[in-house]
Amino acid sequence: SWEDPTGVIATPPIHRHAREERDVNTTVLGYPRIGAARELKQAVEKYWSGSTDAADLEATARQLRADTWRDLAGLDVIPGNTFSYYDQMLDHVELFSAVPERFRGLGLSGLDTYFAMARGRDGVVPLELTKWFDTNYHYLVPELDKSTVFRLNPAKLVTELAEARDLGVALRPVLIGPLTFLLLSKSPDCEPLSLLDQLVDVYAELLGQLDVDWVQFDEPALVQDRTPAELDALRRTYDKLAALTDRPRLLVATYFGDPGPALPVLASTGVDGLALDLVSAPGMVPRIAALPSLQRKTVVAGVVDGRNVWRTPLGDALSTCATLLGSVGRLEVSTSCSLLHVPYDVEVEDELDPRVRERLAFARQKVDEVVLLGRALSSAEGVDVDLTTPAGGPVKESDLAREQAVRERVAAIHPEDRQRASYDERREAQQSLGLPLLTTTTIGSFPQTADLRRTRADLRAGRIDEATYDERMRAEIADVIRLQENLGLDVLVHGEPERNDMVQYFAERLDGYATTRLGWVQSYGSRCVRPPILYGEVSRPTAMTVPWTSYAQSLTIRPVKGMLTGPVTMLAWSFVRDDQPLQVTADQVALALRDEVADLAEAGIRIIQVDEPALRELLPLREADRKAYLDWSVGAFRLATGGAPASVQVHTHLCYSEFGAVITGIDGLDADVTTIEAARSRMEVLADLASAGFRRGVGPGVYDIHSPRVPSAEEMTALIRSALATTPAEQLWINPDCGLKTRSYAEVEPALRNLATATQQVRATL
Ligand code: GLN
Ligand code: ZN
Repeated sequence: SWEDPTGVIATPPIHRHAREERDVNTTVLGYPRIGAARELKQAVEKYWSGSTDAADLEATARQLRADTWRDLAGLDVIPGNTFSYYDQMLDHVELFSAVPERFRGLGLSGLDTYFAMARGRDGVVPLELTKWFDTNYHYLVPELDKSTVFRLNPAKLVTELAEARDLGVALRPVLIGPLTFLLLSKSPDCEPLSLLDQLVDVYAELLGQLDVDWVQFDEPALVQDRTPAELDALRRTYDKLAALTDRPRLLVATYFGDPGPALPVLASTGVDGLALDLVSAPGMVPRIAALPSLQRKTVVAGVVDGRNVWRTPLGDALSTCATLLGSVGRLEVSTSCSLLHVPYDVEVEDELDPRVRERLAFARQKVDEVVLLGRALSSAEGVDVDLTTPAGGPVKESDLAREQAVRERVAAIHPEDRQRASYDERREAQQSLGLPLLTTTTIGSFPQTADLRRTRADLRAGRIDEATYDERMRAEIADVIRLQENLGLDVLVHGEPERNDMVQYFAERLDGYATTRLGWVQSYGSRCVRPPILYGEVSRPTAMTVPWTSYAQSLTIRPVKGMLTGPVTMLAWSFVRDDQPLQVTADQVALALRDEVADLAEAGIRIIQVDEPALRELLPLREADRKAYLDWSVGAFRLATGGAPASVQVHTHLCYSEFGAVITGIDGLDADVTTIEAARSRMEVLADLASAGFRRGVGPGVYDIHSPRVPSAEEMTALIRSALATTPAEQLWINPDCGLKTRSYAEVEPALRNLATATQQVRATL
């Protein structure tokens, strides 16, 4: 963004090279929208707090859109409608006027109704937030029912197209396709797909109003397993839209995998183009080349990875494109999916090791790669493209011997390394912990106060030294231990005051991992994360948690739990090298954690928790791939914990309660105690676990920490009683749903006091 010298923000026309008719056009499927300096985050949060008005927010949004088009100016085709104040699924709820009743009666403006759906209002619960396929992005789940009537409300889209046109930019608007929109929606009284015909009519109406060359329909739901009826609905939908007269050309995009049987179905419809993810599913190439119907269509070849941060091996991408050139109608070069999932710009990462940085491409660099590939493929120009890109593989550390040692250690892993003593033997050995029935504990973190954050910032900025920082953290740990003793909790934690984030903390301490300064990626709404970058062989130079945990243990005779982040979560919430199977990388992380487990046990820590909140997130989108995934992910957890002596109690924590496909995986982790989210689902999960034959310790959360509400002792007593209906007291643990770091002490103290009281009351009746 820029200002003219008079201080008035002006938006100049965006200059683009004269459009020549090339053999191969260039595009991307979408772009980040939070702003390179998180301008949108700041603007919406200010608006929510009431310190700015809607006009200010809109001005920021307009500027961000113009910035995006300027970033994309080198492309032949620029996607539109990629901006969102919160979430693209929510934008479509608005586009189709599918606003649930409870938000309509609030008497709010359009913008405030939109935010009410995202965030709730007093007494009005927001739409549910769920992960977008297997990414770390979360979307809001549309709520439909059989009386839903879709009506077209295209104001947002139309405004954006007009803004672009004023700047001399023609856009290809991106819409969520009707199948994906409905398949991701929920409805209490009908199959969302039963609303398809009505919805397609509204899409048709919209196409009639758009004065654009192309429209992009995103249908990532097609890379999941789909029934024959759904594939049939797919065919009907796009045949109907293609049959419209006087319409824009239609591009259907699938990504995050192989559309499998949906590919020939889509190819047989009258749509004009398909965008396909050739990064996640390179095996598709021969099938694409062999489909005669694609000889008359445009194929948008997603050869630049939209989800990971490595530079594209341009030679490979070129040869993929060259294979397709002769066999499809027209070829367009693109990213595999929207660039929403990567940070803006690697150029600003001046603190990154240059050997790592030269291997990275964030959104801006990926756009450049697409442009370069387009030039190289266009016969009209004789552009020389430097194809010697450094690959995404490991950066050679100076210490080659150490790297070699990591690889040798992985090669030497034995099946027994993943196997602890039998559960019965372990239970026997752990009797000496002397834990009561219905043992109470917490998940790890205590509130991250403003003071703690400031202390961390002070250390980073050099305003305080390490010794002062350590002293401050120790004081916090001592407070947290004292509080837990006063509350009468049985198994204590140190409270994690020293951790900025459960993944970043470890990434900063492991070799082979880098962290960024400004590599923000939108997670949901205004919330952004900065995933670390796992670029090399992972190893642990020195103990990462032992001093803090030992210090906490020295203050109390009750057991203090050591607290580690598991290997799968360490990968799921990072950008990970893509030159070797994830399984190998996971085992490297697991070995580093295994050493930490050994050091904690050596230091006298009797209970160690290895968190795996992301175990379910990485679950493959197709059923057929899940067993292999669970094998290696569970295997990595077991490698991390398999060295723990029988007398050490291993805990794990999972941040969700709908286990579905992963229930066998949870059993497979073989943890002595598993704590899970359950307060919202009223303990249903216990019945599922019981019927799966789960017999080790289980701690269903009885305190929903995702809400500022303080549950009463009576409420928690009732939850504990209902848990006892399916789970024997010997197996049951009492704890909150998740870590307490996002809550305040004003909520946490009374809530934990009530939790302890409820436990006492139930114990008295056992
Ligand atoms: N131990 C972590 C905490 O309490 C677990 C967080 C999580 O499950 N996401 O904060
Ligand atoms: Zn959790």
